[in-house]
Amino acid sequence: MKPAPFHYERPSSLEEALDALTVYEDAKVLAGGQSLVPTMNMRLAQPSVLIDINSLADLATLHTDALENWMVGALVRHYELEQLQAGDLRSRLLRRAAREIGHLPIRLHGSIGGSLVHADPAAEWPVVVTALGGYFVLQSKGGVRRLSSSEFFQGTFTTAIEDAELLTRVELPAPAERSVAGFAEVSRRTGDFALALCAVYLAFEGDVVSAARVVVGGVAGGVTSCQNAELALVGCPLNRVEKRQIAALARTDCNAYDDINSTAKFQLSLVEVVVHDALADALGGAGIRQEKVS
Ligand SMILES: Cc1cc2nc3c(=O)[nH]c(=O)nc-3n(C[C@H](O)[C@H](O)[C@H](O)COP(=O)(O)OP(=O)(O)OC[C@H]3O[C@@H](n4cnc5c(N)ncnc54)[C@H](O)[C@@H]3O)c2cc1C
Repeated sequence: MKPAPFHYERPSSLEEALDALTVYEDAKVLAGGQSLVPTMNMRLAQPSVLIDINSLADLATLHTDALENWMVGALVRHYELEQLQAGDLRSRLLRRAAREIGHLPIRLHGSIGGSLVHADPAAEWPVVVTALGGYFVLQSKGGVRRLSSSEFFQGTFTTAIEDAELLTRVELPAPAERSVAGFAEVSRRTGDFALALCAVYLAFEGDVVSAARVVVGGVAGGVTSCQNAELALVGCPLNRVEKRQIAALARTDCNAYDDINSTAKFQLSLVEVVVHDALADALGGAGIRQEKVS
């Protein structure tokens, strides 16, 4: 199928892009096109104007500020995150998740910003960015907003971004000096969207968990922070984490409904599997560590 006719704009600066978003009412931002173009081809989306942001080179960079926070431009491609070389906990978690996204051509074109704004409930980046405590920087002619994950994500394919706003970057704070992270996903075939996925982040003092994020995707409502599981982890010695117990608690944090692929019960049992495996990934010998556990 072909998309409905549309007007095409390719601004060469952020200012021009924000102007265009203000001028045109029914406009869509075009980043990698890996979600938008298929939906336009199927006529599920029929924007009258496309604002192609691919000339905005400043949005395609990743840099570190003086406090070791990462500023990841919205146009950084999945493939670039898959190829990150830094030994930091963030890069290892991003790398691990990136390789699960679709197939190589999709990873070469698709951007982290496009994925976050699209907010597919089964996408990797919303879950990973939430587990890393990320912030979302939204810019419009009217100013800049910096939202936490719980403010940004509002449900399946729904975020707090407004029509005249552009997601310019995602900020990933420096991990705690002593922290671990883990990732697990279940999908039917390599490259398929996840049926369920989980990213965990645990900071610890001594050998006791001082902060925990357990984030699940693929369930009803999309990205879900599992608060019961997180509460149970805080204060727990690292070597006494009962992974099955925490996974059972995470199940109670999630909603699911029967769909054409599976029952809600099956989806929730997958939640238990991915939470257990992400914890095992974080706490096991080959886990993602900011510093070796003593
Ligand atoms: C066959 C196939 C398999 C896939 N498998 C997976 C998978 O396993 N996991 C996964 O996570 N994804 C998967 N994807 C989706 C892919 O990751 C997309 O790249 C991603 O969802 C969207 O990124 P994009 O840069 O292509 O954005 P686009 O498609 O260009 O845009 C997506 C949406 O975001 C908006 N947007 C984009 N950038 C901005 C911005 N900076 N500010 C404001 N709005 C913006 C657009 O207007 C549009 O509404 C798959 C896609 C395909 C075609």
